[in-house]
Amino acid sequence: MTKNLDYSRRDSGANVASNDDTQRLMAAGQRLAAEVSRLFTSQTDDRHYWLETMVNHVPDYIYAKDLEGRFLIANRATVIDNGFTEMEELVGKTDYDLHPHDMVAKTVEAERQVIATGSPIFGMEERAFIDKGYERWLMTSKVPLRNKQGVTIGIVGVSRNISDRKKAERLLLGQARLLEMIAKSTPLADFFKELILLIEAHLPGIIGSILLLSEDGRHLLTGAAPGLDDAYCAAVHGTAIGPKVGSCGTAAWRGEPVFVADILSDPLWEDVADLVRPFGYRSCWSMPIMSYQGKVLGTFALYSHKVGLPSAEQNELISMAAHLAGIAIERQQSEERIQFMAHHDALTGLPNRVLFDSCVATALQQARITGQWVALAFLDLDNFKLINDTMGHHAGDELLRIAAGRMLDCVRKSDMIVRVGGDEFIILLTGLPPDSGVVTSRLETIRAAIGAPLVLSGRSLQVSCSMGVVCYPDHGQTATELLANADSAMYRAKEVGRNNLQLFDAEMAAKVRAKLRRHEELRDAVARGEFVLHYQPEMNLKTGRIFAAESLLRWQHPERGLVSPADIIPLAEETGLIVPIGDWVLNEACRQNKAWQDAGLPPIVVSVNVSARQFRERNWVSRVAEALEESGLEARYLELELTESLIMQDVGAAIATMHELQALGVHLAIDDFGTGYSSLSALKSFPVRRLKIDRSFVQHIPGDADDMAITGAIISLAQKLQIAVIAEGVETQAQVDFLRASGCDDVQGYFVSRPVKPCAFAALMA
Ligand code: C2E
Ligand code: MG
Ligand code: MG
Repeated sequence: MTKNLDYSRRDSGANVASNDDTQRLMAAGQRLAAEVSRLFTSQTDDRHYWLETMVNHVPDYIYAKDLEGRFLIANRATVIDNGFTEMEELVGKTDYDLHPHDMVAKTVEAERQVIATGSPIFGMEERAFIDKGYERWLMTSKVPLRNKQGVTIGIVGVSRNISDRKKAERLLLGQARLLEMIAKSTPLADFFKELILLIEAHLPGIIGSILLLSEDGRHLLTGAAPGLDDAYCAAVHGTAIGPKVGSCGTAAWRGEPVFVADILSDPLWEDVADLVRPFGYRSCWSMPIMSYQGKVLGTFALYSHKVGLPSAEQNELISMAAHLAGIAIERQQSEERIQFMAHHDALTGLPNRVLFDSCVATALQQARITGQWVALAFLDLDNFKLINDTMGHHAGDELLRIAAGRMLDCVRKSDMIVRVGGDEFIILLTGLPPDSGVVTSRLETIRAAIGAPLVLSGRSLQVSCSMGVVCYPDHGQTATELLANADSAMYRAKEVGRNNLQLFDAEMAAKVRAKLRRHEELRDAVARGEFVLHYQPEMNLKTGRIFAAESLLRWQHPERGLVSPADIIPLAEETGLIVPIGDWVLNEACRQNKAWQDAGLPPIVVSVNVSARQFRERNWVSRVAEALEESGLEARYLELELTESLIMQDVGAAIATMHELQALGVHLAIDDFGTGYSSLSALKSFPVRRLKIDRSFVQHIPGDADDMAITGAIISLAQKLQIAVIAEGVETQAQVDFLRASGCDDVQGYFVSRPVKPCAFAALMA
């Protein structure tokens, strides 16, 4: 076109001279005009041709329709993909003539809208016809088709096939959904089904199957195969894996993919071909499902009715599916492991207290309905601690395992043996006749089994056990009540010398109730602040000076009057109330001592008794520091009395705590010295300032030569170790004389003063 214009301009530029010229020029002009016209026509034809070729060569669909949706014109792709060979066959037809009506509705509606509004629609996604099982998706733009007057006479449409993109999108969405299912711990069966359906939707004509390896690692069990014939699945279930057991059996055996192109001719299927023949499956591609550690968990396989090997895409999908299945299986397995660990004891594999708690209510409920009895026994191995201490933890563990095994051998499947900690077990027997004789005889069998000789670390020995037994419904209605009563029965069993079984009775029940009442009372006393401290002076005989006071707890009971610590401390230790009570004592003693100092009395040390339970509290040292801080008392005026048994429970930890307390500036004393079992060699590593000789030795002086010898020995031991020493419970002049002569000048006892109220103590000091 451009070339054409240039040519005419050049000719007209030459048009200047004579008539001849003019005529020649006119002729030339006519020739030129004819040439231009010829050229122009031929170019128009070419352009038509080019346009047509262009339109017919693009893979997209290009078409125009009239106002009624009849095809006016369409490119080749449109013609062919609608099942025609020539455009004329398509012209005049509507989508309704070509596709199922439900599929067409959306398209027709869109075209109507374009015609009605005159505005185009761009990039609309439409589901188009199904082609050989594949769903087609199109991305379509439709613009109004107008005549020269600008009147809309139809639409022009351009559509692009986006099926592949849609497929990839759907696969991604599917994978995301599957991962979400794994994260939400969806049951494996549901997950497998979803996984297979996703793959099957992606690969028409292909059927997926998941098989799981049995616990023994030797058989394949049905996991999921929604598309496979049920009878075939049933036949495969339980197949032993091996080097020549079809695709899956072999893949699981080898731990590598086994893709069989033709089942009926492949030697791997030789032995199992009859199994599959009736169902017409011809190829089977199996991929082992592996764990993270490379263990075979099962197989993922695709079946087809056609002979052949998987395409690259199919291959990729199989790997992806096997990988996802592996993640899901491992996730479930680890969840099961966690569940098991949460409900079982790691050492013996027995159910633990958590599982017992969740089962016992059901057992009682069952008994309520059937009228049968339930028996519940606490069992303690006698002297287990001794075995643990003398033979080592390994032997102790082994003993627990042996005992657990022996107990299990004596009970039925419906019964339960529970390890509740240390050497304590609970036995739960269900479905019993209402007869305590039967209960005790069954439990005596267990006791006898545990008592049978055994070999531990090469040494043969015998262990006994103690049992406290209760029966439902006679000894309690709830698990809590039953356990509390079983505990009292066990307490009795130990009281009467262990190695026996005690059935709970009414007398025990009364004792238990009384005990519970006392617990309640003590709890109330804490809440009401009914405690007071009395102080007993500690005096130096040489100077006659009171240098310290021991604080001693009293309970100002509203009815019983002043209750002694002997009735408070054991109860408080049992209930844990010793911790708040002990805190109160510590704070009150510090406060009182500071108050005396502030009142102008000569400064003294106040000592506070510490119980083992208190001492074991994790923040015990900081509590002491707080008490000092709050009262404003200097640390050197506080002494803490520890007992030997407290220290010996865990010598290492105790020494560490003692050093922390020493660092605060607080003094430490060993109370009731001589009654515990502290090893003398350990004594030198205790950072203590004072030993308090127990009253029991002083008591019989001067009558008892042994006690005098012991007292004398303690005094000289303390002197050698350069530890101060004080005698407790000194009541008589004779005792004072002996102690003095033995080198102990510090005494505490009625000889000096009984423990007295704070005001009386202040008077004493003054
Ligand atoms: P302890 O620490 O050995 O205290 C000495 C006990 O001997 C006191 O008994 C005291 O009254 C008594 N006593 C002192 N001199 C004589 C005497 O000359 N003759 C006789 N017969 N007894 C004497 P108490 O106050 O009944 O305390 C008994 C035990 O209770 C204490 O023994 C101590 O182990 C414990 N205790 C007292 N208060 C507390 C406390 O606040 N916390 C803790 N954890 N235990 C405490
Ligand atoms: Mg004491
Ligand atoms: Mg004492």
